[in-house]
Amino acid sequence: MPATPAVLPELIQAALAAIDAHAEEVTELDRTLGDGDHVTNLQRGLRALLAQSDELAALDDWSQALQKMAMTIMSQIGGASGSLYATLFMTLAKQLKGKAMDLAAFAEAFEAGVEAMKQRGRSDVGEKTMLDTLVPVAAYLKRAAGEGKDLDQVLEEVKAVATEGMESTRDMLATKGRASYLGERARGIVDAGARTSQLMICTIADKLAE
Ligand code: ADP
Ligand code: MG
Ligand code: MG
Repeated sequence: MPATPAVLPELIQAALAAIDAHAEEVTELDRTLGDGDHVTNLQRGLRALLAQSDELAALDDWSQALQKMAMTIMSQIGGASGSLYATLFMTLAKQLKGKAMDLAAFAEAFEAGVEAMKQRGRSDVGEKTMLDTLVPVAAYLKRAAGEGKDLDQVLEEVKAVATEGMESTRDMLATKGRASYLGERARGIVDAGARTSQLMICTIADKLAE
């Protein structure tokens, strides 16, 4: 894992490019299951992060950078996804305070972050949300760090874990958010938030592996 936030501009840029490239597909998903604004919500947030990315990169401390990102996400991304991602980044910042960045520290912080998202959303895996991508990824990272797996292998394997989690939402009924009103009609469609978190995780993993 990169020791400093200097890598952030590149990662934010890559995440935004991945969302832009799949904008139509994801908007269609959120139009069916939600209100169709998920992509524009994320794009607004990622563009705001990109605009401050030089500032973020200049910080030599991951915790400070993540805290700053949480504030930007909170103020720029409306809707459910904004408060959930802000919660994730705020928790990452808190957990990584005073720690050196490595896979073990990140895995521990990420697990706490996803737990905080569950609390915030009063939700868990199996409810057809982004948590179906993020929870298995958090569990995988924790396990991989515990086993002392090589980072290149982790960056490869985490993509399959995220993709499997995202795909698991296809046949689920939704019990949280707007999609819960659809009942059986929600089956057969992947959750937009699960798809975008998978897209961002895969693209960030590829960037970090370069
Ligand atoms: P909104 O639903 O407020 O319009 P977005 O469209 O940006 O916000 O985000 C929708 C995504 O947020 C959903 O696809 C789902 O993945 C996620 N989501 C919504 N509510 C919850 C919740 N309570 N817990 C976890 N994730 C949620
Ligand atoms: Mg929406
Ligand atoms: Mg909305």
